[in-house]
Amino acid sequence: MLLDCVVIGGGPSGLNASLVLARAKKNIILFDDDKPRNAITHESHGFITRDGIKPSEFKRKAKEDLMKYPNISVHNQRVIDIRKENQYFIIHTDDGNDYRSAKVILSTGMKDVMPDIKGMHDFYGTSLFNCPFCDGWELKDRALVVISENERAFHMTKMIFNWSKDLVVCTNGNKIFSKEQKELLTKNSIIVIEEKIVTLKGENGHLEKIQFNNGEEIVREGGFVTTGLEQASPLAQNLGCIMNNMGGIETDDFGRTNIEGVYASGDNRMSAPSQLIIAASEGCKVAMGVISDLVNEDFKW
Ligand SMILES: Cc1cc2nc3c(=O)[nH]c(=O)nc-3n(C[C@H](O)[C@H](O)[C@H](O)COP(=O)(O)OP(=O)(O)OC[C@H]3O[C@@H](n4cnc5c(N)ncnc54)[C@H](O)[C@@H]3O)c2cc1C
Repeated sequence: MLLDCVVIGGGPSGLNASLVLARAKKNIILFDDDKPRNAITHESHGFITRDGIKPSEFKRKAKEDLMKYPNISVHNQRVIDIRKENQYFIIHTDDGNDYRSAKVILSTGMKDVMPDIKGMHDFYGTSLFNCPFCDGWELKDRALVVISENERAFHMTKMIFNWSKDLVVCTNGNKIFSKEQKELLTKNSIIVIEEKIVTLKGENGHLEKIQFNNGEEIVREGGFVTTGLEQASPLAQNLGCIMNNMGGIETDDFGRTNIEGVYASGDNRMSAPSQLIIAASEGCKVAMGVISDLVNEDFKW
């Protein structure tokens, strides 16, 4: 059977793209291997009507919405290869099956690369986070740390200052601040520690202390980390999609990549802040792009 479109990735972006495609009578399959970036968190915030929802519950509700439409199937599988044959795509999944589709949407998301600090994984997602818009309210006015080894440190610290004035920024042994930046941080009573971190300490995911190379310890209740980001799937690069200088997939406003018939939406474009509601809205837009291209191909001119 020839599908109108396959959507790869069942995060908010792929789920919303699937909804809009289904409602346009398109025959589609959504493939998702269910390893989203935010799986580590207990609650998601900032999506109106869903504030505080568990990420798994968000997905369950979204899939319930999709099940109303008989023209969509959801397959819990990883897509491992896509190749173009004439004007169609052959989509190969990890259970050995092949599917044929006119269009492909990549909503595959990004992966966080954490700083290599002992204890980091014990606290990330419970008291250490990467985005103040997502989790700043829960940590407001507490004794916080910003852990950053890269050039995003100054901007991140300045943003976190909105949620708490009790701030220490740790660079884990890296000299990343200019003299002027250090003076500005000090002027705002933000402590800069450039000593290497030995370990993070605490219990049940709740940060309590940070221990440094020189033996000193500071007390902190939580904070934010600047992580590195990489594509969660190599499919876009393997297809020959042009990438932008942030490591995201380059597209037009409706998600069209440089490969005809291949579209992208959500975090993997690295063109907007990482937020559920933004990823979902991009999913809506990319589906409109696909539908309008299918209409143009079907319509007799
Ligand atoms: C710790 C943390 C907390 C966050 N908290 C919030 C919050 O409170 N509020 C908020 O708005 N945002 C939050 N975010 C950001 C939010 O999670 C992302 O912006 C959003 O999930 C991006 O949606 P997406 O659909 O683009 O990608 P994702 O949600 O990452 O979904 C991508 C999906 O594609 C699947 N996939 C990838 N490759 C393949 C393949 N080859 N085959 C099949 N499936 C594949 C993955 O398994 C995954 O299920 C948080 C992020 C993190 C890291």
